[in-house]
Amino acid sequence: MDSTVLQTPIEYLKGVGVTRADVLKKELGIFCFADLLKHFPYKYIDRTRFYKIKEINTDLPYVQVLARLTNKEILGEKHTKRLVAQAIDDTGTIELVWFQGIKWIEKTLIIGKVYVLFGKPGMFNGKAQMAHPEIELYGTNNQQQIGNLTLQPAYNSTEKLKQFGLDSKGLQKLIGQLIDQHVNQIHENLPLYILNKFKLNDRVTAYRNIHFPADATHLNEAIYRLKFEEFFLLQLKLLKNKQLQTQKFKGNIFSTVGKYFNEFYHNKLPYSLTNAQKRVLKEIRQDTQKGSQMNRLLQGDVGSGKTVVALMSMLIAIDNGFQTCLMAPTEILANQHYQTINELVGDDFVEVALLTGSTSKKARKILYENLENGKLKILIGTHALIEDKVQFNNLGFVVIDEQHRFGVEQRARLWAKNNIPPHILVMTATPIPRTLAMTLYGDLDISVIDELPVGRKPIETLHLYENQRLRMFGFMKQEIAKGRQVYVVYPLIKESEKLDLKNLTDGVEVMSIEFPLPEYRISVVHGKLKPTEKQFEMDRFIKGETQIMVATTVIEVGVNIPNASVMVIENAERFGLSQLHQLRGRVGRGAEQSYCILISNHKLSRDGKIRLDTMVKTNNGFEIAEIDLQLRGPGSIDGTQQSGVLDLKVANLVNDQQLLTLVRDCVINIFEHDPNLLNPENQILHETLKSKGEGLSWDKIS
Ligand code: ADP
Ligand code: MG
Repeated sequence: MDSTVLQTPIEYLKGVGVTRADVLKKELGIFCFADLLKHFPYKYIDRTRFYKIKEINTDLPYVQVLARLTNKEILGEKHTKRLVAQAIDDTGTIELVWFQGIKWIEKTLIIGKVYVLFGKPGMFNGKAQMAHPEIELYGTNNQQQIGNLTLQPAYNSTEKLKQFGLDSKGLQKLIGQLIDQHVNQIHENLPLYILNKFKLNDRVTAYRNIHFPADATHLNEAIYRLKFEEFFLLQLKLLKNKQLQTQKFKGNIFSTVGKYFNEFYHNKLPYSLTNAQKRVLKEIRQDTQKGSQMNRLLQGDVGSGKTVVALMSMLIAIDNGFQTCLMAPTEILANQHYQTINELVGDDFVEVALLTGSTSKKARKILYENLENGKLKILIGTHALIEDKVQFNNLGFVVIDEQHRFGVEQRARLWAKNNIPPHILVMTATPIPRTLAMTLYGDLDISVIDELPVGRKPIETLHLYENQRLRMFGFMKQEIAKGRQVYVVYPLIKESEKLDLKNLTDGVEVMSIEFPLPEYRISVVHGKLKPTEKQFEMDRFIKGETQIMVATTVIEVGVNIPNASVMVIENAERFGLSQLHQLRGRVGRGAEQSYCILISNHKLSRDGKIRLDTMVKTNNGFEIAEIDLQLRGPGSIDGTQQSGVLDLKVANLVNDQQLLTLVRDCVINIFEHDPNLLNPENQILHETLKSKGEGLSWDKIS
């Protein structure tokens, strides 16, 4: 898209040369002209005027406000300690917050004086706020420049760069020069009608104004255009890939719904489906009649009933003469699915088998035979399923549970098991925020089960501190006396003294005193056990021979024990939100009221506190996922590393969700009306698709 001139090595830019080029490469990763052009300011300083408090909004750059201090106080303790002050002008109140240097700043602030506040404005609870503003008494020397300066960009630089004259100002100068000299090489990459429709800056204007904005309005327009462009390019590529896949892979057509499905639906299904389950089945049904391969992601909270949807889809495949398989990430989970499905279908209905690392040679031999002659209809297992020895007669439908543990490559190996690739349904119980799903799985179709089966009592969640453990023991006894069972989960297995984690072994010791034999029995499960030992301990709990299961996170997925009504999570502050939510989902599966008790240390980080509060506040996995995304950013969420979202420079998945939705719809619309981008007005998109070096690494995506 950009002309090759912009790919010119940076040393050839006037004023750079070999030495400076070296430092630019090492310190900022700037190798060519285009890289420099995309080295955007990280903030802007507006000393041109004073803003009124009521004008303040989060879109503004760094601004200054003239206000009278009315109040100051130190709040919180230890980790949460902060200085909060209020200041007013004739239009409103602004809150000022400092988390560092509290004592010193507090001393210098004088109530009743007028100050110049300078900082990035934010909103908190609907009120104007500045965190860590620069603050000076009004009328001192520094303020004399007011009125002479425009919006000043500030660029990231380093000590090393500064030695070579490349501080923020120096970089600004280089960029200015680059734009002036090569403005003709910056080519538009969006169709004109899109620019018009969404009132976007053209590309040159956007680059100019993000570096040299005349005012906040121009700056915001430039940023908007560049965000739009980033999302647009990402979606264009993803949706193009999706289209190519659909064209490339023919798909088996499941034309009928026959006796397997109907018999199950009418005579075996022990409950009625939720509307969400019905909707998803319909989506799968439509997909599998189109003649192209289905690649669908099924998202649904723990306990939302994904398994039965998967099973019923498999039955349709079987009705059409195909075999099916279900792949799970762990042996425990594979076992669980095997049991669940066997219970659902009953005896002599359809041939189901289990294949894991523990399957005996003899059993394998029979299994392989029945797979190849087509008698075996449903194969459930771990990644043992993708071994070369496993040959199907006619594999038509594949379910993969817990996607993020399998790579794309593994998915592809299942496709290869048939001439026409099987339809693929990926199930995940880790809800992903919608915007992230649109980028992370932008090339998959997405189905969501957003409704729990009726009659479920929401799990009650409670946060206790370590010294309240006795209360918890009392509660556990109460529940056990009612016939219920209890999980106690620990984050680590071997104690790391530094982290002062209660380890599982200690926990078991304490608990065996608190819950003595013969009245109480405890199962212990952790990662160091052999699969058979693990299964033995699990089985004791499943059969109700033990009342308490002490475990590390191995139970995170896969156990379904409706009689377990209490989930205790030790050192809950050490777990991530999605993991806490997964663990909690292990209870609340029966008709009884269930509970989740989060035990934590007294010392909680800000994020730790937010995590635990969130868990107490909501059971909704999608809500939890949103908060997780806000806390950790997209980079730490499984799968994002390959998704291209981390290369976004201007756009932000958390703050720009609306824009992303708008852009995705826009791109979908383009493909719907002009699948092959043949319209002259879309001509430009061919170039855009072909281009590299757009700041997004396409190779990583597909
Ligand atoms: P997921 O895999 O989505 O976590 P499961 O498929 O394991 O959820 O289902 C959780 C539990 O809910 C199972 O015990 C299942 O039998 C039950 N269940 C599923 N669908 C329904 C429904 N429509 N009505 C009542 N119970 C259901
Ligand atoms: Mg499940």
